[in-house]
Amino acid sequence: MFKYKNGTTILEAAKKVNIDIPTLCFLKEINEIGDCRICVVEVEGKRGFATSCIQKVEEGMVVHTNTAKVIEARRTVLDLILSNHDRECLTCVRNGNCELQRLAQEFGVTDIQYRGERNKHEIDDKSPSIVRDFNKCILCRRCISTCKNVQGIGAIDCTERGFSSCISTFENHSLNDVNCTFCGQCIQNCPVGALKEKDNTSLVWEKLKDEDTYVVVQTAPAVRVGLGEEFGLPIGTNVAGKMVTALKRLGFDKVFDTNTGADFTIMEEATEFIERIKNHGVLPMTTSCCPAWVRFVEMNYPDLLDHVSSCKSPHQMFGAIIKSYYAKKNNIDPSKIFVISVMPCIAKKFERTREDMQGTGFDDVDAVITTRELARMIKQAHIEFVELPDSGFDNPMGEATGAAAIFGVTGGVMEAALRTAAEILEGKKLERLEFEQVRGEQGIKKACLNIAGKEIKVVVVSGLNNARKVMDDMKNGKADYDFLEVMACPGGCIMGGGQPIKSSKTRNVVNVFKKRSDSLYSIDEKSAIRKSHENPYLKQAYKEYIGEPGGHEAHKLLHTTYGAMKKYRI
Ligand code: SF4
Ligand code: SF4
Ligand code: SF4
Repeated sequence: MFKYKNGTTILEAAKKVNIDIPTLCFLKEINEIGDCRICVVEVEGKRGFATSCIQKVEEGMVVHTNTAKVIEARRTVLDLILSNHDRECLTCVRNGNCELQRLAQEFGVTDIQYRGERNKHEIDDKSPSIVRDFNKCILCRRCISTCKNVQGIGAIDCTERGFSSCISTFENHSLNDVNCTFCGQCIQNCPVGALKEKDNTSLVWEKLKDEDTYVVVQTAPAVRVGLGEEFGLPIGTNVAGKMVTALKRLGFDKVFDTNTGADFTIMEEATEFIERIKNHGVLPMTTSCCPAWVRFVEMNYPDLLDHVSSCKSPHQMFGAIIKSYYAKKNNIDPSKIFVISVMPCIAKKFERTREDMQGTGFDDVDAVITTRELARMIKQAHIEFVELPDSGFDNPMGEATGAAAIFGVTGGVMEAALRTAAEILEGKKLERLEFEQVRGEQGIKKACLNIAGKEIKVVVVSGLNNARKVMDDMKNGKADYDFLEVMACPGGCIMGGGQPIKSSKTRNVVNVFKKRSDSLYSIDEKSAIRKSHENPYLKQAYKEYIGEPGGHEAHKLLHTTYGAMKKYRI
């Protein structure tokens, strides 16, 4: 006998006793609407089938989860979904990682029962970040719940009725032309290939072939704790060494670490924050390293843009450094350099196209690919990733601190900035580097710190719905804090729109955030240098080329101006 709390669903109760019930539209705590009915079960004494993801257990209830009748009913649901689905599995980006395909295999589907008219939709690939192909949509509504409830955006919704039902935007405009922030969380939660990132791997292959181009790649902190999952390694495994070896084998001329760029960001952001504190500048200051967050402010709170730091994000800063300081020092023509960023993010594809991201006169970054796209390239090259030996990033641009490593997790930018700001303001070394108050998965974290005799209040937010609450407070004059970190993706970049996609089944039993974030904190703990301002490469770069943090050259290369609906080039 098992005791269950009131409100426990049949699905949850079954999981507790290791009974597997298939699901499709269900996504724990995000989309629990009982819509697709693949999870039906029989309940003794009740007519018809019960939908286990929403039906609550009751005292004395007897449930049958796998009778022949139940299996037939689920099979019919599946047949109906497949009858209106574009079944081009071989050429689908989700081939091998599709929840519909897995169910079809599990149910032994070898033929399509119902054939007839199918809906035809135009593919929306206008944006630099995201492609919608609703010929593959199964109307599970996970993307709607994600966009509306998790992100508080509501860029997409269900329109029409019956056979004509489809997921659409306002007047069916491209996502490019509505209030989408390009956070990519809907891609993460789509069970099939109806939503995907804009693939830029062909361009990267082309540049790798071109002997006249100096092809530099940089990789964000979150990529190293996600990439291994695409090759069957445990969630959160740190594969930095194998990743660098793979990138070298793919033929990149230099493999650099965006963590170095993150150290530059901290130097500039901490300097800007200290200046705002000392000179009574606009407070609270908010971070600016998440392009989906910046786009969100530009579209929703343009009057509050002066709160946003003028710093570029780490990979943009690093691109500008590569095409200026690094190019000059190594006597390379910057027009021949092609910088590729490997990011956990699809919004960074949009960010690199912004007209305000050309610190050297050239694009800071020439292409952005996601963790998933890099995995695809490694697979296309038939590199046995798991068997690869470790290699180190190319130096000196591979030099980075533990502070930079934690940029990939919510609270990490704040913690890294506090390490530097506190030491500069107090004029002495911190006894303890960890700021536990800003760690963890909660969507809004607040802390009050005493730094150099002054009370500094900070807030850390992840997920745009949470950001909206905080921004509404700011708009209404209720913001009583000094520094705000916002990451659009719940949990931060480790859970970004470009990271490996985990099925709802996996997410039901594994805390993906915890595994990936533990891995990043472990990299920080093991780092020889854990504060950005102690990075020797940065000290040299400022001394030899940039001058002072926050100075004239720093502003030219590393800062920008954000403005309402700034133009970008596709
Ligand atoms: S990318 Fe983000 S904002 Fe855009 S539709 Fe998807 S969830 Fe909504
Ligand atoms: S686009 Fe994907 S997540 Fe959205 S309803 Fe269609 S299948 Fe579901
Ligand atoms: S949180 Fe990270 S991955 Fe998500 S949109 Fe922002 S920068 Fe990109």
